[in-house]
Amino acid sequence: MSARKTYSIRCPQCGHEQKVELYDSVNVTQQPELKTALFENRLNRVLCKSCEASFRIDKPLLYHDPGRNILIHWMPDTAVSREEILDEFDKSMEELRAALPPDIEPPRVRLVFTRAELVELVFIIEAGMEERVVEYIKYTIHMQNMKRVPPAEKQLLLNVQDSTADELLFAIQNAMTFELEDVLRYPRTAYRSVREMYRKNPDEFTELFPGPYISARGALMAEESAGEEE
Ligand SMILES: [Zn+2]
Repeated sequence: MSARKTYSIRCPQCGHEQKVELYDSVNVTQQPELKTALFENRLNRVLCKSCEASFRIDKPLLYHDPGRNILIHWMPDTAVSREEILDEFDKSMEELRAALPPDIEPPRVRLVFTRAELVELVFIIEAGMEERVVEYIKYTIHMQNMKRVPPAEKQLLLNVQDSTADELLFAIQNAMTFELEDVLRYPRTAYRSVREMYRKNPDEFTELFPGPYISARGALMAEESAGEEE
C-alpha cells in the first residue's frame, strides 16, 4: 500500500504555510502511476496557493515494488549526515530481518540519498542489469579519470534510456549543484566482461559494495577518508 500523510509546508518563495498531503511510501506494483510521477519529477511536489510557486519536497520515501521484491529507501541527507542515516538504517534492517518469518524471502533492500540515484537504480533493476557491475564500472572510470571525474565533486549516473546496444551512457553530475554537466560513453562489450567477472566471483564485488548503499563514489570517498585517518 502507498501511504500519504499531511504535512505543514512553508513556501520557499513567499513563506506562505499550507497543509499538503505527501507520500511517505509508494507501492509501484499497485500504483504504477506513482512511478511515472516520480520519474517525471512530479511526486511530492507542492503548488503554493499564495504565489503559485512549484517546488519539490525531498523527504524520506520508501519505494516498494513487491512484484520485483525490492525496497528502496530514499533518505535525503539534507538534515542529517550520511553516517547517521547509515547507522539508523542498519538498526532498522536488523529489526526487519528479525521480524520476518523464516520461510519468507527477504526483499532486496537498498538505500539512496538523492532522487537521481533512486531513478537510476529503478532503471538498472528493470533493465535486468547488475547494479554492482554498474558501480564497479563507475569505480574504474573514476580511478582512470581522476581529473575529469574526481569522486569528491562528481557523480556518475548511468542513463539506461539513452544507452545503446553498443555503448552505455553515463551522465556526470555535479555533486554540489546536482547539475548534469557532461556525458561519458563506455563500451557495452566491456560491461559484459565485467559481468562475467561478477558471475565467476561475486564475493569480490560484494566486498567492495556491501550495501545497502551501493555506490562507487561512496566507496571511493570512504577509502579517501580512511586514508586520511591513517
Ligand atoms: Zn508561495
